[in-house]
Amino acid sequence: MTPVSQVVAAHRALAVAGHGDLVWGHAAVRDPDGAGIWTKAAGWGFEEVTEYRVVLVSPDGDVLAGTGRRHIEYPIHTGILRARPDVGAVVHTHSHAATAFAALDVPLRALDHDGVLFSEPDVPRFRGTGGLIRTAALGADVAAALGDAPAVLLPRHGLVTVGASVGQAVMHAILLDRACRTQLTAMAAGELRSWSDAAECAAKRAACWNPTQIDAGWRYLLRAAGLPEETT
Ligand SMILES: [Zn+2]
Repeated sequence: MTPVSQVVAAHRALAVAGHGDLVWGHAAVRDPDGAGIWTKAAGWGFEEVTEYRVVLVSPDGDVLAGTGRRHIEYPIHTGILRARPDVGAVVHTHSHAATAFAALDVPLRALDHDGVLFSEPDVPRFRGTGGLIRTAALGADVAAALGDAPAVLLPRHGLVTVGASVGQAVMHAILLDRACRTQLTAMAAGELRSWSDAAECAAKRAACWNPTQIDAGWRYLLRAAGLPEETT
């Protein structure tokens, strides 16, 4: 897949999974030639992203290719991609479940398969601000909070996930959203009494979320979005 088709696929998949927030939130992939990030143009919903609504944004925020405005929060992506050479794609959404869960400020417990990716160790939190990540310094701070994790919660804002591939980054966003929703549901019903410990989390990460399983989920999302079932 070209960077443009990866960006289209990421947003359409996120739309299928219910991550849309009117026209806000975005995914980005690393430009293979080092020019910056490919991401959606501002002003479009996830389900509206086409190849004509994708832009190449430099680390300084200049639109180098494509038509349209860049999102204000592009430093989330440029900051993380600068800090994490292993990362090829970044997703930022305003997931309602992740934001509601982050407001509780309690550890994320692995209550289901989804949660094992974000527990033991606990998913990190960026505590610098609940406002927009609009500067390079804030982008670097988000990257520092992320560390080497697959995701970071932004309390009072949303979530950020990463992956070596765009499919992995999108799957991480969907799985974190679901894990937060599951814990919210359980905590609304009563006290948590059962969750995976460190050993079970590690075993289930390998069994449930190895690259083959992640790719299977990603391919399903592409089919559900009506897109060609291409690997990334
Ligand atoms: Zn945001």
